Amino acid sequence: MSKDLSRLKKIAEGKTKVIYENPDDPKTVFMVFKDDITAGDGAKHDIIEGKALVDWQTNKDIFEYLNRKGVRTHYIESSQEKVSLVKKLDFKINLEVVTRRVAAGSILKWGGEEEGKRYDPLITQYHYKDDPLHDPMLDQSYVDYIIRAKQGGEVYAEMKNINMQTFDILEAAFAHFNIQLVDFKLEYGLIEGKATVIDEITGGSFRLWPYAKENPNLKQANVLSELDPSARLDKDTYRQGETLDSVMNKFAQIARITGEFKNLA
Ligand code: 5GP
Repeated sequence: MSKDLSRLKKIAEGKTKVIYENPDDPKTVFMVFKDDITAGDGAKHDIIEGKALVDWQTNKDIFEYLNRKGVRTHYIESSQEKVSLVKKLDFKINLEVVTRRVAAGSILKWGGEEEGKRYDPLITQYHYKDDPLHDPMLDQSYVDYIIRAKQGGEVYAEMKNINMQTFDILEAAFAHFNIQLVDFKLEYGLIEGKATVIDEITGGSFRLWPYAKENPNLKQANVLSELDPSARLDKDTYRQGETLDSVMNKFAQIARITGEFKNLA
């Protein structure tokens, strides 16, 4: 039986989701997906009918896979369309934690990185989550200082470990479908004192570039020739001005692929 959300108390509303309290269990909340899509820290905004449902599906598939692989996440279950039951946070950490395998997006602007450059080991960056400030990146020495000196520093180190572990898991999963996970952004909160993956993981959270050929050589210094960014499946389609129909189509393709994750080992 589906829950009548309009009777529940709204705790928070973000750009793409609404959080409602769960009157039956104060330790959990409902996360409800919206059809909204935004880019440029909210400067660009549209509504794409049906997007909430495909994002819900992608998020469900990915979090169920991560839970199965032993990653600590807030996710519990998604038995009602567009609704996920998740653990309530004790504390939300106001950071976006980005991990990159392949140079794309904002890293191209810093220090003239070449698009397609491969990072091994993975690169992880912490951004302070603040739209008006455009999510500024935190200086590594500051992060190191927090890790060494500040109370809770181990949480920073733990977030980095979880981000890299999660990246490896999802990179290997998408590789089964001839797709490279280029980079992603995860968010964290504290649940029972431990850093835990929260929020959503959907087409807006990562870059996905299909392989350009059979058996690509993905271990070389630059992998751009092996991949096909023009066939990207992610939110860059929206950032770069593709039609809303095309964006929706790409997001639906992502949901079809993640729908197969349950069949992976
Ligand atoms: P970049 O720093 O290159 O713009 O983004 C790196 C990765 O993090 C990309 O996969 C991008 O989609 C994701 N990302 C960065 N900032 C945000 C953000 O504010 N919201 C979302 N949903 N994803 C972001």
